[in-house]
Amino acid sequence: MPYAHRTIVVVGAGFSGTAVAINLLRLAGDEPLRIVLVDRARVARGAAYARSEYPHLLNVPAGRMSATSAEPAEFLAFLRRRLPGASADDFVPRELYGDYLESVLRTAELASPPHVRLDRVHGRVSFIESAREASPVHVHLADGRRLTGDEVVLALGNPAPARLPGVEALWGSSRYIEDPWIAPPAFRPGETVLVVGTGLTMADIVLAGASASASAVVHAISRHGLLPPSQTAFRPRHIESAAPALLRSVPLSMRRLFRLVRALSEDMERRGGDWREAITLVRNVAPTLWRRLPASERRRFLRHARCYWDIHRHRLADRTAAALDELRRKSKLHVHAGRIAGFGVAGGRIRVDWRMRGEERMSTLWVDRVINCTGPDYDARRTRDPLLRGLLSQGLAVADTLGLGLRTGSHGALIDARGSVSDRLYYLGPMLRADHWETTAVQELRGYAERLALHLLAPRRVQPADEPLKPERLLAHEARG
Ligand SMILES: Cc1cc2nc3c(=O)[nH]c(=O)nc-3n(C[C@H](O)[C@H](O)[C@H](O)COP(=O)(O)OP(=O)(O)OC[C@H]3O[C@@H](n4cnc5c(N)ncnc54)[C@H](O)[C@@H]3O)c2cc1C
Repeated sequence: MPYAHRTIVVVGAGFSGTAVAINLLRLAGDEPLRIVLVDRARVARGAAYARSEYPHLLNVPAGRMSATSAEPAEFLAFLRRRLPGASADDFVPRELYGDYLESVLRTAELASPPHVRLDRVHGRVSFIESAREASPVHVHLADGRRLTGDEVVLALGNPAPARLPGVEALWGSSRYIEDPWIAPPAFRPGETVLVVGTGLTMADIVLAGASASASAVVHAISRHGLLPPSQTAFRPRHIESAAPALLRSVPLSMRRLFRLVRALSEDMERRGGDWREAITLVRNVAPTLWRRLPASERRRFLRHARCYWDIHRHRLADRTAAALDELRRKSKLHVHAGRIAGFGVAGGRIRVDWRMRGEERMSTLWVDRVINCTGPDYDARRTRDPLLRGLLSQGLAVADTLGLGLRTGSHGALIDARGSVSDRLYYLGPMLRADHWETTAVQELRGYAERLALHLLAPRRVQPADEPLKPERLLAHEARG
């Protein structure tokens, strides 16, 4: 009897793409299935869990980092095989998490039935071509190879940061690092560095850079000059029961919502709990809340409250926070609140003109290097990624109007320029925030990955094929273009 084969191409094998592949392998049914996992870098790492000279720590305790929601202790069990004394409250090096993802992917691959196959492809995807009527999607790699899939999942990770305003004078200079994740810089002895941004990226770059040179001095600047607080291993005690009540009573006004979160935090502290629990409570209902908020209130949130939400939501491992405090105590790290007005180059150094928050007077800093740590720029309208630009210019994807990412339907299905929800192109990752808001961390992304895999494997139209699944035939399917 002839049987159909089906190919799902996953572009990007960081946490999100790897988690989709793991779930597809685990959930696959009787239908022959080929999963192609493509990445320009190593599979199961992404920016967060890549191997690194500096032992960057997870900012979430090990007990809350399972990639599988049905097995909340999966990561902890893996960890204990490596570090027998590890506890659920430990903040462990991030590259161990990459090892874990690799191991879970491998286990799922080995346990999958013979008619299910996983191919890892190394390369950069530069263009995706998809006719509107039902036909396969072509995935072009920068080196000329072409893959063909029935469905394609885009799991491209965090976009690059926005270009700093006024940076033209430094353009093309090795003294300006626009995207520190491409090649995290080591600080040089005695140099003065300006880091723009005071969030998690700043923490990573400053600690790794300073470990290379104890004599470097760093100035970190952001509009509010706020550093993320430290994470704790708090045990959520009230959130499960409080969530439905919160959703029933929550005001759909930003100002009142802000006040409510503050009151909840104070209440948690008064009851001997931890304000972080209030943030977790709101985080858990954030997608529902976000969808309910009128556009005007979403805008108000982005303008007035986003930075306070981000700073309290994305916290630092306690050891990371302590290491930053230590640098500040030793005057190796200076944190400023203000706005940069412009950069200039004179006498081999960089002049930074900036205005301290609340002041009219302009100040000047002289530095040797500038590093852009403003974090990902989710505004797809100004993306410089050729793959995303191609999707947008073909009308296969549309940017949301608030500059938060891509428009998606359920399960991350891309919405195209005509407003149709694709049944072949899916997106998974932080740009889901346009429709769901909270989509950055493992806890959220694993849920999206599980639901997307279930959706992709749900009974649907079967495309008949003439011949049984044979590796040679599948390889021939990938024409060299
Ligand atoms: C430094 C850092 C630390 C973090 N720490 C934590 C933490 O402790 N706990 C937590 O819960 N969350 C953490 N996060 C949040 C993190 O975003 C998620 O946990 C998760 O790693 C995001 O996965 P992703 O697959 O969406 O993106 P990524 O992991 O960035 O993966 C995207 C992948 O796509 C590939 N790719 C992109 N474009 C192409 C292309 N055109 N062709 C081929 N391949 C492509 C990239 O090479 C990359 O491997 C951290 C994030 C960062 C940046």
